[in-house]
Amino acid sequence: MLALPCKNKDKEVLISGMRDHTSGQVVIVGGGIAGLITARLLSENGIPFAIIERSARLGGHTKDWACMATDKCNRCHSCAVFDYEDLVASSPNGEILLRHELFSVTRSKSGLHSVGIRNLDSGAERELHSMALVLAVGFETFDPTEKGFWGYGTFEGVMTLSDLNSLMRLDELNKLRPDNEKPLNLAFFQCVGSRDKAIGANYCSQYCCAAAIRAALRILHKYPDSKIAIFYIDLQISGKVARTLVDQAQEMGVRFLQGVPGEIQPSEDGELKVIVERNGRNVVERFNRIVLSTGQRPSSSASAISSMTEAPLNEFGFFQTRSQLDLVRSPLDRIYIAGSCSGPANIPDVAMNAGKVVSAIIRDLELAI
Ligand code: SF4
Ligand code: SF4
Repeated sequence: MLALPCKNKDKEVLISGMRDHTSGQVVIVGGGIAGLITARLLSENGIPFAIIERSARLGGHTKDWACMATDKCNRCHSCAVFDYEDLVASSPNGEILLRHELFSVTRSKSGLHSVGIRNLDSGAERELHSMALVLAVGFETFDPTEKGFWGYGTFEGVMTLSDLNSLMRLDELNKLRPDNEKPLNLAFFQCVGSRDKAIGANYCSQYCCAAAIRAALRILHKYPDSKIAIFYIDLQISGKVARTLVDQAQEMGVRFLQGVPGEIQPSEDGELKVIVERNGRNVVERFNRIVLSTGQRPSSSASAISSMTEAPLNEFGFFQTRSQLDLVRSPLDRIYIAGSCSGPANIPDVAMNAGKVVSAIIRDLELAI
């Protein structure tokens, strides 16, 4: 049994068990949390791996996420990435190739892959012989300038959840209230760039409800006089921990309001006005900060990798999996899909999924032996 590392050690997230096994190299494309957990599980099972990562570091988006602890750990799981990075880096049977990209994938009659990789700095090319390929290229965050009418980038005080997260990570929440006198009056708009057919994103991004609530708790921990509202379409948050978060937020005065306003208007006094419906009537609410909870979009590299590997994409641009019952194999033999590149996912789901990817590889390779 393997546990998702968490500083709250007594409440670790358990994911699927693995067996000792086998030999050969698995090439993992992407060194974010999905790639790292997959690599660690492969290594534990005695399977050599190589991680191909375009950037100069491992960890992806998760490494950019701030700790959401207040007076206690709020179980966001983002610190798990540091544990996995250490475990993978010290693995005796793995290779980590930073600043490298995939440029070709070929198959032999036996179904094995020859994978061409390129060093992005020197241009040097190299071929890896791989028994399986794991695509773990992650996601992009939705860019709300696509929905200009929310005023992102135009109205002072409108920011994304990622922007807020950056302030938290750098311990700069004080920038939200520069004069330190006026209490924060902040609203989260949920489902920005998600659940929206008009922009080809008619799906739930899975992580943003819990992320917004944890951020609200953290703001209230630092500035208890803050007023916070969360405008939502549907709260996608399940499980005991999630319920506790909602209860905690409500106890601390966070208002959960169903329905996301369609427009933000700046007022002359520098505040942000939104029109909301109350008991059948339109009323104006005013905030000094509005946080857009932006969702997950397919990775910008998904299309190129799909062309190279022939692994198909689904209607939204994420990698297609074999079926609703098999969410880790691509329709192509020996190509596996890990983490959020097959669709939006939160960290515990990514960990669970990585376990299934490694189980599938072990099962398939045993069948092939
Ligand atoms: S709040 Fe998140 S990052 Fe902070 S200790 Fe807990 S799990 Fe780790
Ligand atoms: S997790 Fe919540 S905010 Fe994010 S898309 Fe789903 S319902 Fe909307």
